[in-house]
Amino acid sequence: MNPQAPREQLEILEAKNLLRQLHPLDSAPGTRIARNGRKLWNFASNDYLGLATHPEVSHAYIEGIHRYGTGSTASRLITGTCTPHLTLEENLAAAKGTTAALTFSSGYTTALSSIPVIVGKGDHVILDKLAHACLIDAARTSGATLRVFPHNHVGKLRTLLSKLREKHAHSRILVITESVFSMDGDLCPLREITHACSQHGALLFLDEAHATGVLGPTGMGLAEALGLQHRIDFQMGTLSKALGLSGGYLAAKRDWIDLIINRARPFIYTTAPPPALAAAATTSLAIIRSPEGGTLRKQLFKNIESLKPQHPSPIIPLILGSESEALAAAATLLEKGFLIPAIRYPTVARGSARLRLTASAAHPSEAIAALLTALSQADH
Ligand SMILES: *Cc1c(COP(=O)(O)O)cnc(C)c1O
Repeated sequence: MNPQAPREQLEILEAKNLLRQLHPLDSAPGTRIARNGRKLWNFASNDYLGLATHPEVSHAYIEGIHRYGTGSTASRLITGTCTPHLTLEENLAAAKGTTAALTFSSGYTTALSSIPVIVGKGDHVILDKLAHACLIDAARTSGATLRVFPHNHVGKLRTLLSKLREKHAHSRILVITESVFSMDGDLCPLREITHACSQHGALLFLDEAHATGVLGPTGMGLAEALGLQHRIDFQMGTLSKALGLSGGYLAAKRDWIDLIINRARPFIYTTAPPPALAAAATTSLAIIRSPEGGTLRKQLFKNIESLKPQHPSPIIPLILGSESEALAAAATLLEKGFLIPAIRYPTVARGSARLRLTASAAHPSEAIAALLTALSQADH
């Protein structure tokens, strides 16, 4: 219960430097964008390979509309499933080395659909402390008992697992983590986590939202990069980041996917994503897995190397501390022509407000050079 009027609540947020507002772009969300009548270099998007404006992906989308219309008109279990949905899901399953895959309206609903089917009351979920909001919300919704381990701390994870197993020899335990953390850009110690899970008979759910398209020989993520796909029970990802579209996916064994189709409320009770979108995603996935995708990843990592040597992902956090410092730094960079947003509580912990800089293969070298100059000036 919050008895304060909405205006009062907004004023409190503003006084704490925590008010958020929508800022529309007047252009496509490429690397060069227009906002408020100004041209800016965009270092804020998750379009890591530039596929959101790729001509072949756009063409597949438009062709899909010509063939299948603009909307799916019904839920997946009524008449909303068209051939392109199944083609996309077959290609995702093959790419992930699983027997099945299912797509959803978003990454958020992928978590919300699947996790409460995998675990429920009497089961246990163990989450990394920095897991994405959708994973936390899904775990809460499931009714399972929640535990959290300190970020990437496999020792603590092992302790939690063995304590739970001592008390609950037969209950289901689901460990949930991400391959590339969305606000820190670091990787999880996946190999050690898979060992810990199999040792204690726990299932592993891995969110590859920021690794899909980015890591691995065919861009399928950290599990592919480490040759561990067969050790992950649930491989989740999104079509909204490197694929440049919108939607989410889960790759898993056929029985789990069939159970999710039967039980997941956010999957069953919503209209299917447009078939044209699924057709575009199939094209995007094919580009990611092709030699062109490999070339784009090479360019992406060259850009990352220029911005922050040895960094493992396109998400580069510049941690400032207070909300006001982060806002001031974002404003200074905006003044110089760079869009790099301030990320504040509750997206990140209090005292760790930051700029979240993201690199793309599509950034020209002049943009990267100009940004490095602007950042070094800001240091003084
Ligand atoms: C963005 C993100 C999601 C949600 O995906 P959407 O398709 O944007 O809903 C899920 N998990 C992580 C780690 C993310 O960064």
